Amino acid sequence: MNQAIDSTTIATMERALARADTLARSFLASLPERPASHVPSPEEMAAALDEALPETGSDPAAVLDDWFNRAERGITASPGPRFFGFVTGGVTPAALAGDWLASAIDQNAGLWASSPAAAQTELVVLRWLKDLFGLPAAWSGALTSGATMANLVGLIAARQWAGRRLGFDASADGLAGHPPIVVASSTEIHLSALKCLGTLGFGRNQVRKASAPGGSVDVAALASLLRAINGPVIIVGNAGEVNSGHFDDLASLAELRDAHPGGAWLHVDAAFGLFASVSPRLAHLTHGIERADSVASDAHKWLNVPYDSGFAFVRDGAILREAFAAGGAYVLGSAGWDPYTHVPEMSRRFRGLAAWCTLKAFGREGYRTIVERCTDNAAAFARWIEMTPGLELMNPAPLNIVCFRLVREGLGDAATDALNRMAVGAIQADGRVFVTGTIWNGHAAIRAAFDNWQTTLDDVGRLQAAVEHISGLE
Ligand SMILES: *Cc1c(COP(=O)(O)O)cnc(C)c1O
Repeated sequence: MNQAIDSTTIATMERALARADTLARSFLASLPERPASHVPSPEEMAAALDEALPETGSDPAAVLDDWFNRAERGITASPGPRFFGFVTGGVTPAALAGDWLASAIDQNAGLWASSPAAAQTELVVLRWLKDLFGLPAAWSGALTSGATMANLVGLIAARQWAGRRLGFDASADGLAGHPPIVVASSTEIHLSALKCLGTLGFGRNQVRKASAPGGSVDVAALASLLRAINGPVIIVGNAGEVNSGHFDDLASLAELRDAHPGGAWLHVDAAFGLFASVSPRLAHLTHGIERADSVASDAHKWLNVPYDSGFAFVRDGAILREAFAAGGAYVLGSAGWDPYTHVPEMSRRFRGLAAWCTLKAFGREGYRTIVERCTDNAAAFARWIEMTPGLELMNPAPLNIVCFRLVREGLGDAATDALNRMAVGAIQADGRVFVTGTIWNGHAAIRAAFDNWQTTLDDVGRLQAAVEHISGLE
């Protein structure tokens, strides 16, 4: 035994971990007051970080310090309580600790044999999530890297189902030479679902889109669109549209699915909207989702676990396995559940641990509180927008997204758009809060999303102060 080498290795490891711990603690402690972003330029970041591949090595603790010091201006306070851009969650203490441990024990959560603990934990997490969201316990599913991959999982199952309806095996034999499979959704279908449809060979531009005034699909328009389609259809429903937080009427979509003569599959993109179902106050928004064929959602948004993490559920697990198992599971004769038979990846990160820890630490009650606090914050901000002259609420805010714009008397459309684009940049540069811009109903607008478990009414006040400051209202 070479004792000397072992003890040096252990000491090096411990120094590196201690350094990571110190950096992490000081970053987390700085979150309440740290600027939401410094908005550095690409040139500034390249100057800070670009260098040639080192020819020789360095001490891991020093490497970590070096990176942190040079990268710091480009580290946003996205896990903090004042980052309202995109749809961004933070990290609960239990989720962070679980994620650290997952890296340390470095389990391959792709198959049972490589980590029975990871596979079984993931099964439990999936069962807890179905329970939390009121989805049928018998559904199959898997953890993914986010809602995009969760959409991919649901849509792959849908493609497999549609191929079977048309008499072929889509994953084994491909789509070429077969009748096209039609996808229908609304004009508000998320970019992520479009990416998946492109990846799957359906074509991003081939989606038949019904109008969605205010963010939720016009059911009559979708019904008439479906009437013109003979074969099987994949309907993509939206539960939580990113600019408005509005929901399609999912029960009506399930009715349309049931009534379609050629057969239909209902996939619901519920990246953050699924969380409405944990609150009795908000659960009406997701009514009917339990009748879907597949549901995609995110964990790194409202579950507040570290990136990257999401989950997909599919009613018919056999269809999903037919698309992904590719015979391997049965060849290996695994003793337990092999996650890789349900997702695109083979080897994968043990995401289940962070989710397990935070669900255990907060429980159903804790998540209901987080979701209700976030929606209360959004409602308070929306009310303030409505009451404040010079600001306009673009849409009622039923959940956690508030879309608004600055308006000035006598200012034309183009100038109002320019004003609002400028305002987004100015609010980001100000650094008190981070918001992002969008186009809503053809107008440039500003949006704030409330997903962080730590955001308080005081943070909402700081958001209001930043908007007032930038708009010259204070
Ligand atoms: C965020 C989001 C996605 C994409 O999720 P990722 O986690 O970024 O892959 C898809 N759909 C909706 C509605 C979203 O809000």
